[in-house]
Amino acid sequence: MTPLEALHKYFGYTEFRHQQGAIVQQILNGGDALVLMPTGGGKSLCYQLPAVLMDGLTVVISPLIALMKDQVDALNINGIPAAFLNSSLNANEQQSIISRLKSGEIKLLYLAPERLFGSENRLVTFLKTLNVSLIAIDEAHCISHWGHDFRPEYLMLSSFKTEFPKTPVIALTATADDLTRKDIREKLALHQPKEFVSSFNRPNISYKVSPKKDSYNQLLNFLDDHQEDSGIIYCLSRQSTEDLAADLQKQGYAAKAYHAGLDNETKAHNQDQFLRDEIKIMVATIAFGMGINKSNVRYVIHHDLPKNIEGYYQETGRAGRDGLPSEALLFFSAGDAFKLQRFARVEGNEDQSRIMLKKLDDMVKYCQLQTCRRQYLMHYFNEQFPDHCGSCDVCLTEFKKFDGTVIAQKALSAVYRLNQRFGTNYVIDFLRGSKSEKIRDEHKQLKTYGIGADLSKAEWQRYMGQLAIQGYLVVTDDQYPILKLTATSEAVLKGLQKVEFNLAEDLETAATETQPTIYEAGLLHDLKTTRFNLAMNENVPAYIILSDATLLEMAT
Ligand code: ADP
Ligand code: MG
Ligand code: ZN
Repeated sequence: MTPLEALHKYFGYTEFRHQQGAIVQQILNGGDALVLMPTGGGKSLCYQLPAVLMDGLTVVISPLIALMKDQVDALNINGIPAAFLNSSLNANEQQSIISRLKSGEIKLLYLAPERLFGSENRLVTFLKTLNVSLIAIDEAHCISHWGHDFRPEYLMLSSFKTEFPKTPVIALTATADDLTRKDIREKLALHQPKEFVSSFNRPNISYKVSPKKDSYNQLLNFLDDHQEDSGIIYCLSRQSTEDLAADLQKQGYAAKAYHAGLDNETKAHNQDQFLRDEIKIMVATIAFGMGINKSNVRYVIHHDLPKNIEGYYQETGRAGRDGLPSEALLFFSAGDAFKLQRFARVEGNEDQSRIMLKKLDDMVKYCQLQTCRRQYLMHYFNEQFPDHCGSCDVCLTEFKKFDGTVIAQKALSAVYRLNQRFGTNYVIDFLRGSKSEKIRDEHKQLKTYGIGADLSKAEWQRYMGQLAIQGYLVVTDDQYPILKLTATSEAVLKGLQKVEFNLAEDLETAATETQPTIYEAGLLHDLKTTRFNLAMNENVPAYIILSDATLLEMAT
């Protein structure tokens, strides 16, 4: 059977996702592999498929005892004999699995790492009597101090390669930066592993950072827009998860807290309720979420600063597994950064502190970005990402800017052609090729007459205003103000200088506004500034009444 046939037969899928095909091939060739694939990407299949294709047993190490049963049940339903050994089984059940292992009936065996090397390596010794054809280490970043979820029992796995020198090992994780990857390769003593890195980009998640100021109200506003949605709110301390959950309950939200200090029953209960949509909001420490397969989480909020990008990205990755648009919102304060710095200094040895501080620094940089957040995240995980995503908060602000050089050149050249002797409205009419009598016949002969017909009058007024604000045009203080060029406008006309314009947020709303605003010049502090402010808000008709019937430039 080919891998593709097996994929179809056992899993009912028609094609491989990400690099599953190549990964399976590497294992079948007997090589080691390090697999980085985002949560929900389909890591399990990378060892489950080889397991059914190879003779012998595949041993799967997973830290999540709670999830083993689900995985094993799913495999059995697909007709793949699988079992797990953990503390939830009684002696009889364990014995029965041991005999099924001996008979070679079982294809996949799930184990927690501590199990394997506990009681004088009895299990390892037993496994060595069997035909182990593949060792799969899930959540492999748990072996690294540098990962965000170090588990000491994972360190025991380093002796796997000595115990089973010929058996291929596949290590899988959804999160590992360079340092953590190196650590995984070394600690597991992987032999010339092939690294398979799938794109970590989650295009349906949009990233946003907001100053942690009045965060509770910000939160309420956010939740108000997400009444029907499921979401996770991460807090740093156990106490704050309980406090916030209680506050939200008082506001009428179906929220519960989750942290490692709760008894197992409460944790299981709250998690179940969340999975079943009986509660909408889980207010949790980072103890919550690993292995949680809930597809419709619409948002992940970090109420406090995460310690590092790896953890942050893993946590935000719990949103939008169904591929629908989802949000990641983080509240950032310098105070949080200081607090975490203090933690980092006292935790662990000097080396560890140094690395934790570096990672924290990268996290803070992320919060203070002036460039695309997604691009930064992708680069952090060594992935090229072109330019900008267009959906993070930085991009959304940046996108209001656009290259207006050509528009500027048209405007400036019109002013130039008209010998710098006319006001804004005349220049605009000229640009738009107005047929009105106002435009003198001699001007209709000029080459630039009508070159701006593609834009509306309101748009031209807006851009004229922006040109003035940016210093490319001067509006004189005369009774009938006229437009003059400046030294920098010459550079634009010569093509030496680019001009950026802002697209106004209120462009559409303003356009529907028809009531003209009337300004009394005598009541305005500063006529020039006012005029420019008006220019920025062009679509609202405005009159400045200087004296009796004298209307100012900006009047429409
Ligand atoms: P991960 O461990 O990477 O978070 P899983 O192994 O749990 O992800 O897989 C996530 C989901 O994707 C599962 O429902 C799985 O059945 C599905 N899946 C995996 N591979 C494929 C594939 N090739 N085609 C379609 N669905 C797949
Ligand atoms: Mg998994
Ligand atoms: Zn972006």
